[in-house]
Parts: sequence; structure tokens; C-alpha cells
Amino acid sequence: MKLNELNITQACEGLRKKEFSAVELTKSYLSHIKKTDHKIKSFITVTEDEAVKQARQADKRIQNNEMSELLGIPCSIKDIINTKGVLTTAASNILKNYVPVYDATLISRLKKEGTVMLGKVNCDAFAHGASTENSDYFTSHNPWDLERVPGGSSGGSASAVAANQCLYSIGTDTGGSIRQPAAFCNLVGLKPTYGRISRYGLISMTSSTDCPSIIAKRVVDVAIVLEKIAGLDQKDSTTINKKVDDYQEYLKDENIKDLKVGMPSEYFLNELNVEIKEAVEKAIKKIESLGATIVPISLPHTKYAVPTYYIITPCEVSSNLARFDGIRYGYSANGTEEAKNLLDVYTKSRGKGFGNEAKRRIMLGTYALSSGYYEAYYLKAQKVRALIIKDFKDAFEKVDLIISPTTPNVAFKIGQHSGNPLEMYMEDIFLSAVSLAGLPAVSVPCGFVKPSDGEKEMPVGMQLIGKSFDEKTILKVANVYEKNTDWTNQKPKD
Ligand code: GLN
Repeated sequence: MKLNELNITQACEGLRKKEFSAVELTKSYLSHIKKTDHKIKSFITVTEDEAVKQARQADKRIQNNEMSELLGIPCSIKDIINTKGVLTTAASNILKNYVPVYDATLISRLKKEGTVMLGKVNCDAFAHGASTENSDYFTSHNPWDLERVPGGSSGGSASAVAANQCLYSIGTDTGGSIRQPAAFCNLVGLKPTYGRISRYGLISMTSSTDCPSIIAKRVVDVAIVLEKIAGLDQKDSTTINKKVDDYQEYLKDENIKDLKVGMPSEYFLNELNVEIKEAVEKAIKKIESLGATIVPISLPHTKYAVPTYYIITPCEVSSNLARFDGIRYGYSANGTEEAKNLLDVYTKSRGKGFGNEAKRRIMLGTYALSSGYYEAYYLKAQKVRALIIKDFKDAFEKVDLIISPTTPNVAFKIGQHSGNPLEMYMEDIFLSAVSLAGLPAVSVPCGFVKPSDGEKEMPVGMQLIGKSFDEKTILKVANVYEKNTDWTNQKPKD
């Protein structure tokens, strides 16, 4: 097996046993990125020199027998997360030259663990989208079929992990942006509970649902990363002082006999592609055969989730994007020659302004918040949100977790929905409710389907939804399912 094809556990073991060094591991990724990224297009910025430097430091720490599962492990970061001294564009023209002066909390925590950052990956601009087609720069490609999208908005994270360009990636999930790309690329994607991982240092989209999220090749890999970055942060008052579970330890227990799994009827209706429905139903049967009890449940307000999300999100987006007025971000060194040059570059790039989707959301949100419309739209949406939250609360009286498909379709072709925002929004049909309720959910591979408009089989994902702060139960069931099936071992052909 090539070095860049390992998973985190294997890479960690190889480093410990000195089968290879962190520098060798990092270089194998860097050269693979060079070889493949002209067709996959995951990266906006590759931080080659910095990565090798970090790998050297990791090697020193390994020599000193330091232990962290992420020491020397190469990753990528969605370009919406602030990284000190490294360009952070949010895949937008407006922030084309923005170099943050501080690290997001999760970045500081990862640096402390000694992970190696290979660079910043593409996404829909400001994370608005489900395909990366809203990136102001370029569209990323799905390694399973280059004519298709890798999903979005964390599409560059997914394409990078699936194409073996890094071992894991940190993205964000505000309304599905890690779960859907994971499903489209045969990966594991975890959106934790709102407040489980600090949002400090994220470029905010919808502050009430934004969650830093993790995408990797296996359930344990995701669990390892979660353990390192979760928990209270004084800089984000929505994080709470609740113990971070020892997820890896918890995953060792493979007994799921006492667990009740809810199967919501509203998530298995006709909008769903028949073959995806069959694949997920088969996966649920498998989980039943492994010991869990399946309980039919109802989440009656499901059909309002997408419309509710697409009122609340633009409202928060219109307020969050107001700060990008071209004055404060994108240049720093005040008064110097350098500042003048930067200002010049910035003014030119700002000329291009926001992309269409950002403009659409700013206008919709400003409208929905304006006097006379606030009650009819924003307030109403918040009331429906309360009903959606209650649906889950009632369901979790009866079950320990809920399973649904992650997406209604497999990865679609580039260009298929980009001219029709409503079609694109409907791709979020199984994702929005969970985000509005702030619950944890993980997408795991559960099969392959040949789409009617293509020859290549495309991956299918299953979504496991948990109680608030109960990431451990969904990860456990996902892990048991993964171990008893072969889906995650399937890889796209080069
Ligand atoms: N598709 C959703 C949207 O466009 C999800 C975005 C996200 O999670 N960042 O809003």
C-alpha cells in the first residue's frame, strides 16, 4: 500500500514503529497533490514549505516518544477556517487577499497535537451551496466520477480525502455541508452537536447552526480528531463545559444489543431515489441483525425543514456578511507601500464583489428581516424551528438514535442544478432539520448505485442522528456497521 493510501490508525502506527517518518509521509501527500490536483481541484492554497517544517517538528516529537494519534498526520482545512499567516479566502473574491492574524481555536488545538497542515481546500463561497459550484474560483471534482460534483459546501475537503490527497479534513456543516460530501465521496462525515467544537475563528455563515465538522476515511479516524478538538472554549460562549468522551475507548465496545434505532417514515418517501432507499433499508436490516432494535417513528414537521432553513440561513447570512464592506478585511499593513499595493489588489478584486448565491442570500435575508416582513418570515420560521426541535425531542423519548438516508440522490453532474437554486436547496432535504435542531449526525458509506445518467457506480451514504452531545452512540453504531460491511474499503479508481 502506498503511504498516501493509509488511514489515520495505520499512519500513526507506521510513524510509531519508524517504518517511515512524518517528513516522508508529508512529502508523499504533497507529491500526490501535485500529480492529481489539476484534475480533482481540491486545493486553493498548498502550504508546502510550512507542511514540511511541521513534519520535521513532528518527527522530533516522535523521537522523544511523544504520543498523540495526530502527531505527524497530514490534513487539509476548509478555506473558511482562519489560519494564522495563511491565506483564508472563504472561496470568495471579497476575501481573495485575506490573511488572518490569528488561528481558529480548533487550529490551535490541532497544532498542539502536531498534525501537519497541507493547505486550504475549496468550498462554495462563504459555504453557501451543495456542490462547490458556488466557489468564486473553481469547481472541485468527485474522484469517483470527475464529471460529477463532490458535494458541498465542504466539497474540497471531501475530494481531497477521497483522492488520497490528505488523511482527513476539517470542514464546516451549517446545513449538511460535511454529511452530504461524505455521502457523495464514500467517506465518513461527522457534524457534531452545535457547541461541541468551538466556532471561534470560523468565517460565520449561519451562526445558530454553524458546526466545525470532520471528514475522514473511517469512523475511528473521525473519533480521534473529534477527541482532540472538541470541548469548552472561553472564546465561544456556545461551547459548554461538558466532558469530552473518550470516543476511541467507547468504540471498542461493539455491543449494540440494547440500542433502539428510530426509522422516521418521513425520510423514506417518494422523493427518494428507489435504489438509495433500498440501500439504506438494507443497511438498517444489517444493523438490526447485529443486535439493535428498529422502531418506526414519525418526525411530522420534516417537510418544513428546508423552507425554514432557507429563511433563517439568509437572515443570518445577510447580517454576518455585512462586515465584508471592503474596508476592514483583506489588507493590513496600514500606510506602508505594501498596504497601498494590497489595497489596490483588493479594490480590484472587490470590484467583482459577491457571487450570485451570496447576493441572493443577502437580499432574501434583508427582505425577510425588514420591518413588516419580520413577523411573516423570520419569526414564523423560528416558531416552526421550535416544532422541528420538539419532533426530535419526542422521538428521542422512544429511541437512542435515528437513521435516514443522507441524500435523496447520488452525486449529480457538474452543471445539473447550478442554474436552479431551488433544485439545489432540495438536495438538503434530509439534512436541514438536524442542523436546525443542533443535533449530532454522522454519514457513513452504505452502498453504491449506478445513476440513470451515467456509467459509473456512485456511493450512497446513511445518516445516523444522535441525541444532543451523544456523539458516542452514533459513532459506535456507525463503527459496528462499518466493521461488518465492506463499503469503506471501496476506493475510486485513479
Ligand atoms: N447546502 C446548504 C446551504 O447551501 C448547506 C450549507 C452548509 O452546511 N454550509 O446552505
